[in-house]
Amino acid sequence: MTVVVVGAGPVGVTAALLLAQRGIDVLVLDRHSSAHPQPRAVHLDDESLRVLQAAGVADAFAAVSRPMAGLRLLDGAHRTLVEFRRGAGEHGWPQASMFDQPDLEAVLRAALVAEPRAQLRGGVEVLHVEHDAGPIRLVVRDAGVEEELLADAVLGCDGANSTVRRLIGAGMRDLGPAERWLVVDLVADVPLDVWPGVHQVCDPVRPATFLPIAGPRYRAEFRLSDGETAADLDLPALLARFGAAGCTVTRAAEYTFAAQVADRWRSGRVLLCGDAAHLTPPFIGQGLGLGLRDVHQLTWKLAAVLAGADDALLDTHQAERAPHARSLIRLAVLLGRLMTGGGDRAALVRRAVLAGVRRLPRLAAFASASRTPPLRPGPLVRRPRFAPRSPVGSLLPQPPIAGPERLDDVLGPGWAVLTAGGPVPVAWPGRVVRVADLGSPELARWLGRRSVLVRPDRIVAASVSS
Ligand SMILES: Cc1cc2nc3c(=O)[nH]c(=O)nc-3n(C[C@H](O)[C@H](O)[C@H](O)COP(=O)(O)OP(=O)(O)OC[C@H]3O[C@@H](n4cnc5c(N)ncnc54)[C@H](O)[C@@H]3O)c2cc1C
Repeated sequence: MTVVVVGAGPVGVTAALLLAQRGIDVLVLDRHSSAHPQPRAVHLDDESLRVLQAAGVADAFAAVSRPMAGLRLLDGAHRTLVEFRRGAGEHGWPQASMFDQPDLEAVLRAALVAEPRAQLRGGVEVLHVEHDAGPIRLVVRDAGVEEELLADAVLGCDGANSTVRRLIGAGMRDLGPAERWLVVDLVADVPLDVWPGVHQVCDPVRPATFLPIAGPRYRAEFRLSDGETAADLDLPALLARFGAAGCTVTRAAEYTFAAQVADRWRSGRVLLCGDAAHLTPPFIGQGLGLGLRDVHQLTWKLAAVLAGADDALLDTHQAERAPHARSLIRLAVLLGRLMTGGGDRAALVRRAVLAGVRRLPRLAAFASASRTPPLRPGPLVRRPRFAPRSPVGSLLPQPPIAGPERLDDVLGPGWAVLTAGGPVPVAWPGRVVRVADLGSPELARWLGRRSVLVRPDRIVAASVSS
């Protein structure tokens, strides 16, 4: 069985690593011969690090990243309006990590080179994907020569302008207006005297973001008004407001940030993941995190289908991932709206209320604990209705356990049942692990008298209380 992954960005390479671990041969194709050189993502949450852990690269990622203190919303005069702290978290990794995307991509590609089941071919552009009956046929161009390849499944991880998305007839749906921002990367000779977290300036005149990345690197972002270009900005003066006037500007690039989700994520065994399926404004640093969770939640299902399970299992990809993506993208749009209002604390709250009361609890949960929304109920998420405190649909926590291993490693690559000792439904698949044997009072407290069914991607699928 061979899966072709189109796109060797961070999402495609992570998908390839996860599939290869499940014994599947993977061919990754990218039109460029090397990784994207420009810094893009700078923040990942601890849920995303669980995915990197599953892919076997979390420790290598920790070596090129640093934990981050949290998020501050500032007014136009740079006074703090609200502060959301980030710390150790419940997933065994820092709740927020800062890094340079090229460093993460180097870590992922190094792991791929060491994976005998995976192969990366750079300089190969995918032109066509045909998928009637039998194997999927891809037409690719390598050094000007067209070639045909066959695959049992294709993952379109080919980014914002996805060819695969177009070829399966999918389009993007807007969830908010696109905005133009100037993104400025900086290097300081001596460390700047700034709070080590993300500063979001809520100023209607010039919304801005400032954050330390890792080592001597910093990033500043300034929203551009209609018709305005980077040349119209007094960049030294804007940087001086963050104490960064003396930094060297290594790059200043204009980006249009969209808020979009694809209307169709699958055609047969051709499936979309990452930026090909959704585009997120950067305010909550979730664009890449969403893509990593896409492939963590898809690859075990695809492996099961390739091993003989019903293809209907793949229907759950869009059904689970699209509402989750929409929810987070709407939060990013909401935060963007809060940022453009300026004023005092009362004005901020007023705008938050106007922007949508229903979404406030979700914003609070996300801002205070970096918790992303649970998956909606479905065949693999047996979440009772009206049970806001149910763990079903969310990631199992990963507190420390006795011994050198982490919880995910002890649970193994398949389904698992974590139990306090009460009766476990006979229909539940997977290895049974008693919480008392794990040496984790924290996990025992979280579980209480429950038994939970945990999917291979560590999402809690069902829960019973004894
Ligand atoms: C300025 C900026 C800041 C950001 N900050 C954050 C952040 O802090 N946190 C966060 O989580 N996210 C952030 N993001 C978003 C994040 O960078 C993206 O979500 C992430 O790069 C998407 O990864 P991907 O693998 O899906 O796509 P990409 O990284 O775009 O990779 C797609 C790959 O597909 C290849 N490809 C395309 N078409 C074809 C074809 N036809 N044939 C072969 N290959 C093809 C491309 O060459 C490319 O290598 C930010 C983005 C920007 C621009």
